[in-house]
Amino acid sequence: MIRESSDVSKRAHNFCAGPAALPTAVLQRAQAEMLDWQGRGLSVMEMSHRSDDYVAIAEKAEQDLRDLLLVPSDYKVLFLQGGASQQFAEIPLNLLPEGGVADYVDTGIWSKKAIEEASRYGNINVAASAKAYDYFAIPGQNEWQLSKDAAYLHYASNETIGGLQFDWIPELGDVPLVADMSSDILSRSLDVSRYGLIYAGAQKNIGPSGLVVVIVREDLLGRARSSCPTMLNYQIAADNGSMYNTPATYSWYLSGLVFEWLKEQGGVEAMEQRNKAKKDLLYAAIDGSDFYSNPIASNARSWMNVPFRLADEKLDKAFLAGADARGLLNLKGHRSVGGMRASIYNATGLDAVEALVAYMAEFEKEHG
Ligand SMILES: *Cc1c(COP(=O)(O)O)cnc(C)c1O
Repeated sequence: MIRESSDVSKRAHNFCAGPAALPTAVLQRAQAEMLDWQGRGLSVMEMSHRSDDYVAIAEKAEQDLRDLLLVPSDYKVLFLQGGASQQFAEIPLNLLPEGGVADYVDTGIWSKKAIEEASRYGNINVAASAKAYDYFAIPGQNEWQLSKDAAYLHYASNETIGGLQFDWIPELGDVPLVADMSSDILSRSLDVSRYGLIYAGAQKNIGPSGLVVVIVREDLLGRARSSCPTMLNYQIAADNGSMYNTPATYSWYLSGLVFEWLKEQGGVEAMEQRNKAKKDLLYAAIDGSDFYSNPIASNARSWMNVPFRLADEKLDKAFLAGADARGLLNLKGHRSVGGMRASIYNATGLDAVEALVAYMAEFEKEHG
C-alpha cells in the first residue's frame, strides 16, 4: 500500500497548473526508497534501465496504467521524453504523409501551439476555432469544417490555461482522433478505443515533468516519414519498449507509484467522483457570488483548471498574498489570462478545495 504517514504538517495546498502537486503518499514512498530500493542497496536513479529490477518497475507502471484506463491490447503505451510539446512535431512526423492534410481544432493556447508546430510539416486545416466565442465555448461538431482526406484530427481535450474542456468526443468515422490529454488524463473515465493516439505530458496528472505518455493504436505505427528523427519515431520506440535510448527512468518509476496509488484509491472512477465533487464545490462558490466570476460556458468548464476573476483586479495581489499566508499556493492565473486559476488535479484533494472556498468567502467578506 502507498499510504500517507502522519508527518505531513508542512504540506501546503498546491494549486499549481504544472508541474503540479503529487500525492504525499507517493512522495513518502519515493523518499523511503531513495537510498535503498527494496533491499537492493541502491536508488532507482542508479539502476541500469536494462536490469531485471528496472524492467520490472517499468513493466508494472505500464500494466497499472493499462489497468486504470482499460487500454485495449492493440494499443502501445510509450514512455517518452520531451514533454507534451515534443509531440506537437512528433505527431505530424509520424502520422502526416508528405502532401497530406491534417485537421486541427483550436480551443486555446496549447492547441494553437500544436497547430503552429504541425504547420512546419504539412498542410494543416484549422477545422474549428473557439476564437469565435472568445475562447469561452467550444464550437459544436456541426460547425467544424473537416477536410475530405485528413490523416488525423487533433484536439486538446482540456485547455489548461483557459479552463476549457470537452465533455464529448468528436465523431470522425475512420479518421484517427489524436488528443492532447496532458491536463485531464486519469481524471475521469475514458474510452481509449475511440482514439488513434492519446498523449499527455506527465507533470499535471501523472508524475514529474519531462516525461510524456503516448497511447497509440498499433495500426498507426510504421507510417513515419523517412526524415523523421529516430528518436521521434513511434515504431522504433514501440519496438524497443520505450528504451531505444536511456529513458527517463526515475520519472517513469515515480509515475508508476502514482498509478499504483490511483489503483489503491479506487481507480479512475473514484477519481471522477472526487473530481466532480471538487469542481462542483469551486464553481458553486464562484457562481454564488458577484465578487468572483468564471466566463466559460457551463458545458465546457474544465474539471481540472478553474480560472476565476475578482470583481476588482486591484485586489488580486492582496488575494494572492492572503492565500499564500494560508498555505494555498500557486493560484495566480496564467500571464496571458490574468486573474486566478486553481488547478485541482487528482493529487489535490477535496480538503484543499474546501480550504480555498473558505478563504474566498472570508476574503470577499473583508473586501467585497
Ligand atoms: C502543459 C501542457 C502542455 C505542454 O507540456 P510540456 O510537457 O511542458 O511540453 C501541452 N498541452 C497541454 C494541454 C498542457 O496542459
